[in-house]
Amino acid sequence: MYLTKLEMRGFKTFADKTELEFKPGITAIVGPNGVGKSNITDAILWVLGEQSNKALRAESAQDLIFAGTARRRPLGMAEVSLTLDNSDGSLPTDYSEVVVGRRLFRSGESAYLLNRATVRLRDIRDLFVDTGLGPQAYSVVGQGELEAILSIRSEDRRALIEEVAGVRKYRLRRTEAERKLEGTRANLVRVTDILHELSSQRGPLEEEASRARQYKELAEQLEGLELQLLAVDYRRRASRRGQLVNEVENLRTDAAAVRTKISQLDAEHEQVSLRIAGLADELERLRDEATAAERRADQQRQSTALAQERLRSIAERRQQLVTLQEQGRKRIAKLQQRL
Ligand code: ATP
Ligand code: MG
Repeated sequence: MYLTKLEMRGFKTFADKTELEFKPGITAIVGPNGVGKSNITDAILWVLGEQSNKALRAESAQDLIFAGTARRRPLGMAEVSLTLDNSDGSLPTDYSEVVVGRRLFRSGESAYLLNRATVRLRDIRDLFVDTGLGPQAYSVVGQGELEAILSIRSEDRRALIEEVAGVRKYRLRRTEAERKLEGTRANLVRVTDILHELSSQRGPLEEEASRARQYKELAEQLEGLELQLLAVDYRRRASRRGQLVNEVENLRTDAAAVRTKISQLDAEHEQVSLRIAGLADELERLRDEATAAERRADQQRQSTALAQERLRSIAERRQQLVTLQEQGRKRIAKLQQRL
């Protein structure tokens, strides 16, 4: 792994895009005080994911963005990208050239980039873990920190040396494995306890199990019987249904016959009604005739009575004439005598 290039734009003193190419053989960057040499290491730390403002010699994150000078306006964004040659495969990625980047806007918005793609801080950290590069890896040692390193406690120093030598990863893994082993041991103790407890529960549990088996058998029997019962019930219902279907069929036939009979009777009724109407007319006619006959009989009776009356008056008249004839004859006789 080799640092090949560092690009800065808007980061601290580097207002313009500044590109530093690290060719093999470069061992130092020199310059007057306050020219921005330490800002270069700050840029490297920052792009690798440093989170502490103090470690970057800033009060706040905004201090990392070019703050402007008497002749130049402040900028709104700081961007750093670091190119690493990974042809030896030190970094766990397929790329032979890795470019990590970090951006920060004055609004607080920020982003990490890996080979131009946006990634999470975590992805950057994972990439550099145990490579000897990274904010916590002492690959960048601040001005004045050397003395502090020389005087720190032996275990910290050891951690530092291990980190640099790349043993730290294995130590951490060992600690982790030991912790897991301890956990497993504790689990084992718990399992033994549980086993002990369970063995005392075994008797009652076996009894319960046998009861459960019995219950299961009986439940199965019950289920079988219920199924049989259902089958019987089903057959009975099916045959009853057959009967009912027949009955319905018969009733339908009967109903049809009754309907035919009804229509016959209707026809007959019609005929009889017609006949009754005819007879009523006939009756009416006969009644009229009878009335006429009676009227004629009355007239006959009246003319008979009239004729009788005339007959009687004729007889009376005849009697008178007879009497007159008698008187006449007597007079004639008398007159003859006299004569
Ligand atoms: P020395 O030799 O004293 O260690 P140096 O070369 O390491 O100096 P740096 O500490 O890298 O110098 O740079 C300090 C300069 O960076 C200061 O002049 C400071 O004003 C300037 N600086 C820091 N932050 C910003 C910023 N956000 N915008 C503009 N300039 C800044
Ligand atoms: Mg300095």
